[in-house]
Amino acid sequence: MTTLAYFAWELAHRGDTPCVRDDHTALTYRQFADRVDAAAAHLQSIGVRRGDVVATILPNRVELLVCLMAAWRLGAAATPVNPAFTATEAGYQLDDADARIVVGRTPGGPIGDRIEIGPEELRTEPDTAWSAPEPPEPDDVALLIYTSGSTGSPKGVEQTHGNVAYMTTAVAEHMEVGADDHALLILPLFHSNAIFVSFLPMMAVGGRLSVTGTFSVRRFFTDVATLRPTYFSAVPTIYALLTSSPDITDADVDSLRFAICGAAPISKELLDAAESALGVTIVEGYGLTEGKCVSACNPRSDVRKLGTVGIPLPGQRIDVVDSTGAPVPTGESGEVVISGPNVMRGYLHRPDATAATVIDGRLHTGDIGVLDADGYLSIVDRIKDMIIRGGENVYPKEIEAAITTHPDVLECAVVGGPDPILGEVPIAFVVTYPNTTLHRDELAAHLRDIVTKAKRPTEIHLVDVLPRNPVGKIDKPSLRQQTRIPAR
Ligand code: ATP
Repeated sequence: MTTLAYFAWELAHRGDTPCVRDDHTALTYRQFADRVDAAAAHLQSIGVRRGDVVATILPNRVELLVCLMAAWRLGAAATPVNPAFTATEAGYQLDDADARIVVGRTPGGPIGDRIEIGPEELRTEPDTAWSAPEPPEPDDVALLIYTSGSTGSPKGVEQTHGNVAYMTTAVAEHMEVGADDHALLILPLFHSNAIFVSFLPMMAVGGRLSVTGTFSVRRFFTDVATLRPTYFSAVPTIYALLTSSPDITDADVDSLRFAICGAAPISKELLDAAESALGVTIVEGYGLTEGKCVSACNPRSDVRKLGTVGIPLPGQRIDVVDSTGAPVPTGESGEVVISGPNVMRGYLHRPDATAATVIDGRLHTGDIGVLDADGYLSIVDRIKDMIIRGGENVYPKEIEAAITTHPDVLECAVVGGPDPILGEVPIAFVVTYPNTTLHRDELAAHLRDIVTKAKRPTEIHLVDVLPRNPVGKIDKPSLRQQTRIPAR
């Protein structure tokens, strides 16, 4: 399989097997394939051609999946826009991606000569006169996912048909999923994780996919009990919400075989608490949009090493290098660089940013990591999150790990704040478990026993919640702003 054209054929041949569902619709593979063909014929009739960009501004629902597949069927690229975006944010992505067609409603109304159609207007009956165009080439762009912009303006990551197809099979193989698996998709579809860990692997192996609307803990437990999925993929925040919920004690989660955690660091304490509360193995993985989503993941049936993000996915290679690009010795830290068929073609319209990120075919991740003798990767921190305290490098993730060893702490984030003498100092924002009475002096005393002075936060703020980006990751740039220091 070299391109996503494969799916259109496969889908139709799986007949009456259940395929995708949401709160409004449940489709078999045959019905889903027909809906994809009907939508592709419709999009073609309104002018979508190979190489065009189709934008979706839709919440998580079956129509969004149909649109993605329909765009790929036509050799077009899809760019899913966050439906909660303001007119300015959506306008930026639509302009930057040069999207000709929008499925959904552009906030503030359609702009320019762009064609906009509502998802309910998309044809649902197959058109017998329709003939699919030639399948796309592996190098054609299939997806334009936008980075969150925490390091500047959001950038469109060009993911080709070849690397999307590769990623799908590599994830399915690594997760050991088959036709009897059923994914509960809870993460937003404008981000890589939902597409590559839930949607496409299920389509590739003939499994089932249930798409839920906005996440809530109660909704999650009801969905697991009634829909009986075999796995789901979530970010650490969701595990923190599930674990601290009183509903978890009576939850019926027997159908789950495993769960995936990624997108941001998770503390060992939270991983343990979530595993014992849910009664399933949670495998931690690591990746970034520029590398299609997953680059390393702990195995399900081979050795799992807690605290690491596992081994490279089949077909990828991970090196840890110094500032000259040379590998550092095993066990030492350096920048994580990734090579393989998952590396993005580039950032759309940004040759300079691409050249700074993909060097000799290797993706420079901006993450600091360590490889052990068995090839398991640990993420130390992100280069841009590192705090330089009086010239000494301090990693917030290490301080966060120390803070979460306190039994009352649910989660926390450490960022650099300004200091007239030391330049930068660590500042902690901490969320405690409900019904606990932790005082910051007690936490400071706890830290005195486990970390050296440089790693002790100069301020500890006990807060109710941590700010999140739309994917649910802790929004460190906004925390940094609260400490009045700009992000590096
Ligand atoms: P932007 O690139 O605009 O800042 P973003 O960081 O949210 O946005 P993503 O591609 O979604 O973009 O995130 C990738 C980053 O998430 C990785 O580079 C890494 O820093 C972090 N990450 C992902 N998985 C893990 C993990 N298991 N442990 C620690 N960090 C992780």
